[in-house]
Amino acid sequence: MLNVPSQSFPAPRSQQRVAAGGRSKVPLKQGRSLMDWIRLTKSGKDLTGLKGRLIEVTEEELKKHNKKDDCWICIRGFVYNVSPYMEYHPGGEDELMRAAGSDGTELFDQVHRWVNYESMLKECLVGRMAVKPAVLKDYREEEKKVLNVKGGIKYGIQHSTSDVFSPVTSCNLDPGPYKIGTHLHIYIFSCLFLWAYLSLCGMLPKSQVTDTLAKEGPNYPSYDWFQTDSLVTIAIYTKQKDINLDSIIVDRQDDSFRAETIIKDCLYLIHIGLSREVQEDFSVRVIESVGKIEIVLKKKENTSWNFLGHPLENHHSLIPRKDTGLYYRKCQLISKEDVTHDTRLFCLMLPPSTHLQVPIGQHVYLKLSITGTEIVKPYTPVSGSLFSEFKEPVLPNNKYIYFLIKIYPTGLFTPELDRLQIGDFVSMSSPEGTFKISEFQELEDLFLLAAGTGFTPMVKILNYALTDIPTLRKVKLMFFNKTEDDIIWRSQLEKLAFKDKRLDVEFVLSAPTSEWNGKQGHISPALLSEFLKRNLDKSRVLVCICGPVPFTEQGIRLLHDLNFSKNEIHSFTA
Ligand code: FAD
Ligand code: NAD
Repeated sequence: MLNVPSQSFPAPRSQQRVAAGGRSKVPLKQGRSLMDWIRLTKSGKDLTGLKGRLIEVTEEELKKHNKKDDCWICIRGFVYNVSPYMEYHPGGEDELMRAAGSDGTELFDQVHRWVNYESMLKECLVGRMAVKPAVLKDYREEEKKVLNVKGGIKYGIQHSTSDVFSPVTSCNLDPGPYKIGTHLHIYIFSCLFLWAYLSLCGMLPKSQVTDTLAKEGPNYPSYDWFQTDSLVTIAIYTKQKDINLDSIIVDRQDDSFRAETIIKDCLYLIHIGLSREVQEDFSVRVIESVGKIEIVLKKKENTSWNFLGHPLENHHSLIPRKDTGLYYRKCQLISKEDVTHDTRLFCLMLPPSTHLQVPIGQHVYLKLSITGTEIVKPYTPVSGSLFSEFKEPVLPNNKYIYFLIKIYPTGLFTPELDRLQIGDFVSMSSPEGTFKISEFQELEDLFLLAAGTGFTPMVKILNYALTDIPTLRKVKLMFFNKTEDDIIWRSQLEKLAFKDKRLDVEFVLSAPTSEWNGKQGHISPALLSEFLKRNLDKSRVLVCICGPVPFTEQGIRLLHDLNFSKNEIHSFTA
């Protein structure tokens, strides 16, 4: 069935039809798939009507282009002529028209922040928004103010009072770390000047300028650094207690050092061009009781550093997560193993210079260049097996990330992923998702409703629930598939249920053969009301649901009908 393209494109289960967040998509005309769009962008056709010229667009000008056949939209300060894209937009023309002639950044972020529009719409780029004269004046005022301020930075890239881009004036080599002395702001002023200048010239998109505004305050995170002969330690003070090793992502590439700390709904970013070379590997420690993170870098040469480095984009900023772009690093394909006739277990290895742990229930985005256009799709990491005794290859710091991925022969992304050879690279983003481990607190009954690859978030949940929730009495998985051959890890699930009596697994098939004597059909009131029995009347319950969007939507409706409250349901979507 997989190989037969349906008359209506994209297929009902296609991500091109299914919006992030579960909104319905409109059917696209024949010849208007993403691949067709990519072909059009490569055809050399003038898609902006400006013959390749890039212009500065004023708000007045932008407003004029608000019709279907002449539609400009601004995203993060860049203006695109989206008229040629209208018929290819999976969300339909009307959705695109909601942002016609205006700044569509917020709308875009609400719906599909992860979609790589820069690459998809590059041939539609008209230019960048011009900075308004009023804003221009403000920048000049700010510039003047900043230059008159001696003790600190009031605008743009900000620094804590323990700023480290300063020469060391006093060192204490033995014992313990060097001490940091006076502050040198010349460098920072130059950066600020350059930043303000670029903004004045309209060379940076408007939102980027405003997004970097950071506010100091008693609860604002800060950082510091110290060194010994061989080590440099960067300490981040989050001023929060609920942080752990999942909260910090570190990437080092050449001399650039980047540490994203997740603090509630924001990211605190340390982004520095290091002044000296360090070795590839490093260690990360979290002192949870005080909310402190220590990243210990190994110097390449045992010499004293005069300063840590220079600030890079958005350094020392606390940015709402919804406003941050996704950061990608290149991961190497280590192994690929068949799990069913169309689903494979991929193992990717993080670069040695990355620290990243994907929290339970979260997904990442994988990115590949397909005929010159960067295509991004979400995937949910799993563990290498359902059994905790499974041994992963010995490598420190959870360097391996596993994915169960179904290959759709006529899909855009998965056939390309499947073509990768062992040793090839694929880019992987930082994790995203709304699931929080706190949802498991004092949990007694856990119900998992999974359909097809919607099983993927359930893998880590199962591992965690059966080992780490002391209050848990029962876990029940209802796993919906088309045929027996489609069931992922069937024998592992059966073995696990046999081993751990708290686990029950029920398979439901929507297109079984005549030999199947188990449950059949689609998700329904009859199936759910029988399956979702609480252990006790008032037991603390969580129902997790994941699968094709119509499955999830229908499941949520049925769960409400069965009197499960919002807090008792977690649905997985992008
Ligand atoms: P698409 O191009 O989107 O095509 C999908 C379907 O449409 C296929 O059946 C294909 O045959 C059909 N189709 C394509 N072109 C045509 C055409 N011209 N005419 C008719 N039909 C056509 N998937 C996993 O396997 N594992 C995961 O862990 C996982 N995690 C996810 C996490 C999240 C948060 C979300 C939202 C999705 C996740 N997915 C996962 C789904 C994944 O993101 C992709 O949607 C999926 O891999 C399909 O991608 P594709 O580009 O290969 O297929
Ligand atoms: P599939 O087509 O093999 O279908 C599996 C089962 O889902 C079917 O047997 C049926 O019981 C049910 N189903 C399918 N379409 C339905 C419909 N219209 N109404 C009710 N039930 C329906 O599934 P697949 O190809 O493995 O697709 C899995 C889906 O799960 C994809 O859409 C993928 O994007 C999604 N997914 C989402 C996440 C997430 O959001 N975190 C993670 C993984 C997968």
